[in-house]
Amino acid sequence: MQGQLDMEGALTARDRVGIQDFVLLDETTEAAFLSNLKKRFSKDLIYTYIGTLLVSVNPYKELDIYNMKQMDLYMGVNFFELPPHIYALADNAYHTMLTEFNNHFILISGESGAGKTEASKKILQYYAVSCPSTTLLNTVRDKMLMSNPVLEAFGNAKTLKNYNSSRFGKYMDIQFDSQGDAVGGHILNYMLEKSRVVHQNHGERNFHIFYQLVEGGEEDLLHQLGLERDSQHYNYLTQGECAIVSSINDRNDWKTVKNALQIINIDEINTNHLFGTVASVLHLGNVQFDSDSKGHALLNSNNSELRWVSNLLGVDAHRLQEGLTYRKIEAQKDQILSPFTIDHAIYARDALAKAIYGQTFTWLVNRINESIENKWEPVQFFNNKIICDLVEEKHRGIISILDEECLRPGDVTDLTFLERLEEKMGNHPHFVTHKLADKMTRKTLERGDFRLLHYAGEVTYCVVATQFKSSLLKLTEILMAKEAWYIRCLKSNESKQPGQFDEALIRHQVKYLGLMEHLRVRRAGFAYRRKFEVFLKRYKPLCPATWPHWRGVPADGVEVLVQHLGYLPDEYKMGRFIKGYMTRGQAKSTDNSEYLAFVRQNYLNRLKGNLPKTVLDKTTWQTPPAVLTETSEILRKLYYRLMVRKYVRGITPQKKAQFQLKLLTSSIFKAKKDSYPQSVAQPFVDTRISEQDINMKVLQMIRNEHIKYSVPVIKYDRNGFKPRPRQLILTKTAAYVIEEAKIKQKVLYTSLNGISVSNLTDGMIVFHITCEDRKQKGDLVIQCDHLFESLTKLAVIANKQNAIKVVQGSIKIEIQAGKESAVDFSTGQEPMVYKAKNGHLMVVR
Ligand code: ADP
Ligand code: MG
Repeated sequence: MQGQLDMEGALTARDRVGIQDFVLLDETTEAAFLSNLKKRFSKDLIYTYIGTLLVSVNPYKELDIYNMKQMDLYMGVNFFELPPHIYALADNAYHTMLTEFNNHFILISGESGAGKTEASKKILQYYAVSCPSTTLLNTVRDKMLMSNPVLEAFGNAKTLKNYNSSRFGKYMDIQFDSQGDAVGGHILNYMLEKSRVVHQNHGERNFHIFYQLVEGGEEDLLHQLGLERDSQHYNYLTQGECAIVSSINDRNDWKTVKNALQIINIDEINTNHLFGTVASVLHLGNVQFDSDSKGHALLNSNNSELRWVSNLLGVDAHRLQEGLTYRKIEAQKDQILSPFTIDHAIYARDALAKAIYGQTFTWLVNRINESIENKWEPVQFFNNKIICDLVEEKHRGIISILDEECLRPGDVTDLTFLERLEEKMGNHPHFVTHKLADKMTRKTLERGDFRLLHYAGEVTYCVVATQFKSSLLKLTEILMAKEAWYIRCLKSNESKQPGQFDEALIRHQVKYLGLMEHLRVRRAGFAYRRKFEVFLKRYKPLCPATWPHWRGVPADGVEVLVQHLGYLPDEYKMGRFIKGYMTRGQAKSTDNSEYLAFVRQNYLNRLKGNLPKTVLDKTTWQTPPAVLTETSEILRKLYYRLMVRKYVRGITPQKKAQFQLKLLTSSIFKAKKDSYPQSVAQPFVDTRISEQDINMKVLQMIRNEHIKYSVPVIKYDRNGFKPRPRQLILTKTAAYVIEEAKIKQKVLYTSLNGISVSNLTDGMIVFHITCEDRKQKGDLVIQCDHLFESLTKLAVIANKQNAIKVVQGSIKIEIQAGKESAVDFSTGQEPMVYKAKNGHLMVVR
């Protein structure tokens, strides 16, 4: 108890150095920001909050703030009750996860050498101590902790900016069960900087493990691997001219790594293989080539370095020698060996070294994953290796299919690529496309998309050029679905010196990490608009009257608190914004600006959650508040344009053709014929009568004219208007009226004068035919259930769109040359077609 009190006393003293949450800074200027950072840094207070974001300044010296006592202190304590610390952030992320049952991630950013890797280690160490444990869990945790030195030995190197710079991307997952026990983890590594294996800039080193092995490896081991205890001896280790640096103790690190390898379950045999592979890279780097008179590379297969490589990797020395000095060309059934120049040979050697090291690293990460991916109980855990294989596997992975598809002769498009993918991996349980998906899933996929089911969630990719970029965006989205905690690491100076606060350098980082913007957002939206209770709970340590407890009404406590802090009346406002609401229609003022900001944000959030789903949906758009009328209109236009673009991109050629026809239909009939609106949604088909259903004799007679479209119709006799079922066949040159095996009438498009239909909902069509002599039959009157489809086809085939007329009341017809009648239209209770007393054909709709 006494200790606890002492600690609190000490903490209060520390509080007085600057301000521990930038949100409480008097002014939000960069100068004030930097001055606060500097003040705190000078007293070794490297952590400062901006709300819940943690700013960390690299001290470049060991601080006594990471001990068990400190860990104890931060466990389960309210975020703002203790001075800023990375443990507070880790602890809060953990507890929020447990109470809210959701996923969290901690994003650590900053430039090289700013302290990201150290920060992640501190968090892991904290969890190792603070999370509940059983003996079994201890081993999982130990493994997670111990995997770090191994990963660092193989994946980190000295650079100009950082003695221990991670040269690979790393994303680490820790899984907790509902009790909060760490039960497993997974490391995703990507983009190892392989070029470093064969080349280092001045002042930089190769990956640590090489130096650790050479400097720290036991005599026996070095002997077995054919290595000398001298980094200077190896070409791959000396290009940066700093193989040995005082700040790195390779010998000690070697011991740590050896020990760690044991803990993560890599047995002796595998450990030996691992070092054998590392050694083979060193030997490979020392392989030199001679040249013959033609400048071709020469390498004796008895070369001792080559022998070592061959021994260590277990490959035939002669074949290795051949591979390093010749290109093998396969021409039909022959193999031709074409000699390398020295440059080529060196390139091949380096490429091999990089490949060996890269594979070794991947192997290592996989082994680590195997040892930490919880075994003992099936936690629902999705191993991403399946996905990596799906993407990368030789010959059947997505990338190799893409490569193949790019090399394939003929038209290669996104869609052919997608088809190849479907063909090759359609059975893969984690691969889904529009075609392969079930009905529900299909709704969420565009035609050109494919989806991989990642362990982190589903990621939909699109076969377009921007695939990589968009997949990264999608991954970011997945992370966004988790709760984010941010740590921003700042580098205090370029020379890694303790106690040096390089203002220009830090100002620069504050700028590009966007810390000032972040501060303004937090101040505007976070500190101010809080419930009194929450506000008080958070800031009560700042005032003796409210700390540790305020016994009165929370609102009064807040009032006391802000007055104690010396805020002027116009710097804060309490209450319910009522005045802001009353003056919401007026110009922006101090009274209403907060209310308006609230209204804006509220509307945008509402909009985001209720966007129209289709281009045709014109009603869903949220009605904006008055202040946002203009913005809403701009957003609406943008959004519809985006949807239209998406839609248009997803249209197939068939669908496009259909649309073009429909467009023509619209230009002829829209707003003219009553049945047009109902017809819009009905798709047009190629034909209504298949060729098997047309009589053979007829087919023989007209086939060479190319049948374009056929449809069943009712034809009305010219004398008496008797209805007869017929087939109407459109060829390239004429329309035929067919009864079984007989052509009853042929209408050449050239003699087709015009086409009339009524404005009502009937299917009556009149073909007006030029009737020059008596032998020709008169106008043709038919009724067709597919009026829009057949007339649109006719319009296209015979180029007659201008000849189609929609008429009201009555259509004049010529029964034969010189003899006229008419079709009369009217509306009535029941549809009917009959010969009226006046001799006209009466159509009632
Ligand atoms: P990054 O991963 O951002 O490139 P590191 O985390 O490797 O940077 O940090 C670089 C160096 O800075 C470390 O090797 C260590 O010497 C020092 N360092 C970083 N963070 C701290 C810290 N919290 N306390 C003491 N030294 C630190
Ligand atoms: Mg790092």
